[in-house]
Amino acid sequence: MSILTYRYRIKDASSEKHLRQMAGAINYVWNYCNEVGLLAFRRDKAFLSAYDLHKLTAGTSKDLRLSADTTIQQVCTEYVTRRRQFKKVKWHWRAKKRSLGWIPFKAAYVRLTDDTVTYCGHRFRLWLSRPLGGALKTGSFTQDAQGRWYVNFQCDMADAAEPVGRLDLGIDLGLTHQLTCSDGVQYSRANLTRHYKDVLAMAQRAHKKKRTKAIHAKMTNVRKDWSHQVTTAIARRAKLMVIGDVSSTKLAKTPFAKSTYDAAWGIVRRQLPYKAKQLAGVCVDGHERCSSVTCSACGAHSGPSGLRGLGVRTWVCPCCGVMHERDVNAARNILAFRSGRATPSKGIPVLEAGEDVKTLPVPAAPRAVP
Ligand SMILES: [Zn+2]
Repeated sequence: MSILTYRYRIKDASSEKHLRQMAGAINYVWNYCNEVGLLAFRRDKAFLSAYDLHKLTAGTSKDLRLSADTTIQQVCTEYVTRRRQFKKVKWHWRAKKRSLGWIPFKAAYVRLTDDTVTYCGHRFRLWLSRPLGGALKTGSFTQDAQGRWYVNFQCDMADAAEPVGRLDLGIDLGLTHQLTCSDGVQYSRANLTRHYKDVLAMAQRAHKKKRTKAIHAKMTNVRKDWSHQVTTAIARRAKLMVIGDVSSTKLAKTPFAKSTYDAAWGIVRRQLPYKAKQLAGVCVDGHERCSSVTCSACGAHSGPSGLRGLGVRTWVCPCCGVMHERDVNAARNILAFRSGRATPSKGIPVLEAGEDVKTLPVPAAPRAVP
């Protein structure tokens, strides 16, 4: 079983005033939790639990004009979860201007008929872009930076019984090609930050806040859509995926900072494991260290290394004479390090009985995928 969130845009602008009113009431509950929690901590040196907050906020739903106590309870529970997660005594204050609208609900309190969702006595029409794929558990109404409202439904989804993919793939995350698989397939897209930088700069200089937000939203949507398509394609092909543990925080301090942020490796890392799980595959982290410098055919440290070696896209190993494409070689090593056939420090493959270095499979020439 896994949980999948379906997100739909809400159609009418007229219904937004109800959503704004409810979001305001929820901010009020959140700020109350924050304040009363802080007072309790100062007095007793102990945090209030979700149960304490439920008792303190009981019976307020009528005054706050929220459907039921469950929404208020959900806000209290969420507050406690976030406080524990981020280990903060005082959480940020939710205000209409600063925080995007958020209204959580439970499945029992909403009704979805055709393209209309009914909640708290109000009807909201959606752009039902695709049908729900599973049983509805919980959900929420949320607002984005452009002020648009969405409804999110979290559904229980059944996982595939048998692995859909057949391959074992090592995956190298990079900047020239965002993703390279060990079987030679590469996935790349244009650098969005570079593509939109001129129009963005123009909008910012002209103080056009709305336009700036729209450009940022466009970039986010393109990036997310591309990542979804690519991760789904990989999850369908492979039963084992090993992703390199390249650190974007380290690279963000180099001249490659902009490209690193644009590559958004975090999205891939987040999407691939759950897609793998749905298709009965496995996605694990592998070692990135020495993956470029090691020859994936003989294991010698003969490849390009350091900042100077970054421009080298293809190279020939002087020890075994095999020609390598930089990223494919790295992806093959990431898979090999994981399976124990080689180690990052020594780089010498552990040969099985009767196996010769020369007979190890030679990497295929890279194939570009649009
Ligand atoms: Zn070699």
